[in-house]
Amino acid sequence: MAKKKAVKKVSKPAAKKKTVVKTKPAVKTKAGKYVYHFGRKTDGNGTMKPLLGGKGANLAEMCRIGLPVPPGFTITTDVCTYYYANKRTYPSALRAQMQEGIALQEKQTGKKFGDLKNPLLVSVRSGARDSMPGMMDTILNLGLNDQTVGALATKTGNPRFAWDCYRRFVQMYGDVVLGVQKRPDEDHEPFETVIETLKHERYHADIEDTALTVDDLKELVARFKALVKERAGKQFPASPWDQLMGAIGAVFGSWMNDRAIVYRRKYNIPSEWGTAVNVQAMVYGNTGETSGSGVAFTRNPANGNKEFYGEFLINAQGEDVVAGVRTPDPVAELNKVMPKAYAELERIRQTLEKHFKDVQDFEFTIEDGVVYMLQTRNGKRTAMAALKFSMDMQKEKLIDWKTAVMRNPADQLEQLLAPVFDLSEVAKAPVIATGLPAGPGAASGQIYLNAERAVIAAEKGEQVLLVRVETSPEDLRGMIAAEGILTARGGVSSHAALVARQMGKVCVCGAAAVEVDYQKRVVTVDGQAFKEGDWMSIDGTAGKVYAGKVKTAPSEIVAGLINNDQAARQTEKFKSFQQLMKWCSDATRMSVRTNADTPEQTSNAIAFGAVGIGLCRTEHMFFEGDRIDAMREMILAETLEARKAALAKLLPFQRDDFAGIFRALKGYPATIRFLDPPLHEFLPHTAEQQADLAKKIGVKVETIQSRVHQLHEFNPMLGFRGCRLGIGYPEISAMQARAVFEAAAIVQKEGIKVRPEIMIPLVGFKKELDLQLEVVHQAARDVQAEQKVKLNYMVGTMIEVPRGALTADEVAQSAEFFSFGTNDLTQTALGMSRDDSGSFLPNYAELEIVKKNPFATIDVSGVGQLVEVAVRKGRATKPNLKLGICGEHDDDPTSIHFFEKVGLDYVSCSPFRVPVARLAAAQTALSAGK
Ligand code: PEP
Ligand code: MG
Repeated sequence: MAKKKAVKKVSKPAAKKKTVVKTKPAVKTKAGKYVYHFGRKTDGNGTMKPLLGGKGANLAEMCRIGLPVPPGFTITTDVCTYYYANKRTYPSALRAQMQEGIALQEKQTGKKFGDLKNPLLVSVRSGARDSMPGMMDTILNLGLNDQTVGALATKTGNPRFAWDCYRRFVQMYGDVVLGVQKRPDEDHEPFETVIETLKHERYHADIEDTALTVDDLKELVARFKALVKERAGKQFPASPWDQLMGAIGAVFGSWMNDRAIVYRRKYNIPSEWGTAVNVQAMVYGNTGETSGSGVAFTRNPANGNKEFYGEFLINAQGEDVVAGVRTPDPVAELNKVMPKAYAELERIRQTLEKHFKDVQDFEFTIEDGVVYMLQTRNGKRTAMAALKFSMDMQKEKLIDWKTAVMRNPADQLEQLLAPVFDLSEVAKAPVIATGLPAGPGAASGQIYLNAERAVIAAEKGEQVLLVRVETSPEDLRGMIAAEGILTARGGVSSHAALVARQMGKVCVCGAAAVEVDYQKRVVTVDGQAFKEGDWMSIDGTAGKVYAGKVKTAPSEIVAGLINNDQAARQTEKFKSFQQLMKWCSDATRMSVRTNADTPEQTSNAIAFGAVGIGLCRTEHMFFEGDRIDAMREMILAETLEARKAALAKLLPFQRDDFAGIFRALKGYPATIRFLDPPLHEFLPHTAEQQADLAKKIGVKVETIQSRVHQLHEFNPMLGFRGCRLGIGYPEISAMQARAVFEAAAIVQKEGIKVRPEIMIPLVGFKKELDLQLEVVHQAARDVQAEQKVKLNYMVGTMIEVPRGALTADEVAQSAEFFSFGTNDLTQTALGMSRDDSGSFLPNYAELEIVKKNPFATIDVSGVGQLVEVAVRKGRATKPNLKLGICGEHDDDPTSIHFFEKVGLDYVSCSPFRVPVARLAAAQTALSAGK
């Protein structure tokens, strides 16, 4: 009866809510159903992550496949949305549905919530659609008060356990729900300070928490409550239902806490998703020596090895393991102390992988020898592990090759190319400490002991190593800024390790010999002191810590591909990488070219699998050696003759450069862009440099000054640059065209196929392109006649100003190809200078005016429209018009997804990003094919 009424009542807010939540995919849900049960009665399943969050959906799924899960219920993400849309209130039906959930837990466990004989305690945990480790709040042992603690003690015959639970509960609740947290002037959590004070008063030492007696724990509870009263200004709530509602509000509230917002921004999790809340019957890992808690992975998430990986703590609750407060034992040790529980975990490990077909990261509790599952999710992994998992699981026939490709996150792939320590250097370096290898790779940096100072140092351009006793989610910003993270405490599943791995940061944790003094800002290792700003190095693959700066060496993949190092080519890492790249080629529709201006860059890119140059910025070639002098002479020339004379000096340089590039390309095409930047960029600006140049090329210093003055532009990015230069000074384009064709003739005569594609920048009018075409074709005719060769070349344009995009049908009448210059297209479409937007874009990101930096990830709804229009109009004129992109968006996986969708033929990116672009292009094609 009550239920019916409740359902009716919520129909209104649910309708209202619809307008708020646009991003949730259609999941079949019952209107007004806010609570999904799991346990003996399970309503949800693993596919319902948008509604139940990752944790809730997988708890339901584990129940369905018969794994031992304590009963509970999930409050849906819809309630979170409702909560924020309705001034932090709940749908009125919620309470009744929760009561039903608690009743089901009571029935299944034989306990009662708030009971004075056999009290049911619950945990309250967040659970977003994508896991956000450590970012939101959790409360354990909820339901305890001064009465129920006694009941728990009597029922279990274990007063120490009961008071330990109560102490933990008041601490967690006080922190998370009542906001009793570290103040800016404090280095420690206030509850931890209370514990330490008591330990020192009573034992004069830092004893383990497990050594605290019942009396100590009772005293701690009393002191904690006093602390709550003093800081939060209210009594600690005694009623279990008040506690529960408070905890749920705190978990929903934590969706909008600072660290969750930072995390979401980094991983592009929309704030509209919201979090679910899981309320689950407690099982206890802290009842004594036959109990414990742990976190495990079905395979090693650091290096990918197929081994049971994880850790546990005897007589502890789950939070102790992830918080990194005590350093746990490896899971293999469990086989010695609790062989039965270990065997059960081994069985669960197999079941999980068989069912989820991916590596799982799970939490378990052992209560008096019995194993319970508290969570499972796809394990976060390093790029190295992702690669190995994908290869191994494909061989084991758990997944097919296409899934294997999808399992390698494109934006992590760069980690595989990251340097390792130079072997000869590291052999000489003193190992000062060892810890757990938590995030592979090698990093050197100047040490900083808190996140804020680490961020400031990194902003100044320093290479930073963040050193902490242990990290907490507050350190996230510092971790993002640092090259690597070193902690003195905590295991491989501590917060530091998880987050580091995901970010691809090098991390060593639990290096016990490292003593961190926050006050003095000094790290001491075995008597040796390191001040903030001193150098240290860490090897996150081996878990070693070195004093000073250690030189790094290229990874096996780079060594194998670029340096052709035979030993590197034999490594498993190298072979797996090559296999992945081969699958990428099989899957891809779009090809990947490179932005390269030298033969070396070109060869590197080809080694990484690029199939041509998509952008050769010829102006870069003018800065080398003494060419800049000839260039300056050309700019300073006052007559056409003088300019032609200077250009004649540049011609051989350009010709040689192009010949080198054509040779390196071995027949692949090269898109060569003519001079683009405004001329003043080439001239010296200080009086001293001007005097120097005057002497060198024999002109008056006043001539230089006046030319600099004349060329000065208020907005050079929108000024006399791009094709405007070639139109103003056709002789420059003529020289460049001649250099391209002469080089092509030379290399072609050597027997190498040459495919030049000349590209005219910044075209907005068809006529601009036509004028440049005349110059290019004339040079081609001349060179072909002189050299008696037939050259196969194309001329096209960049689409990088809105008018060019909007009139692409006209431009395509003259252009043989388009390449989207999305850097300029973004700045001109948004009216934001690509050089100065850094002054306000961070604020725009903070305010979510832009979701991502539009200069890094294409602004699909704005700039994207221009691209779409240009593609459509261009191909309406020339159905086979070749289309590419060469702006900085070229290696961004999200942007690549868009370029695939609009049908571009290729993306072109910097050489070391070619593998990333290949993987992203393959994944995009695979998802499109689904
Ligand atoms: C562009 O504008 O996107 C581009 C590739 O050209 P540049 O960055 O050289 O202006
Ligand atoms: Mg440009």
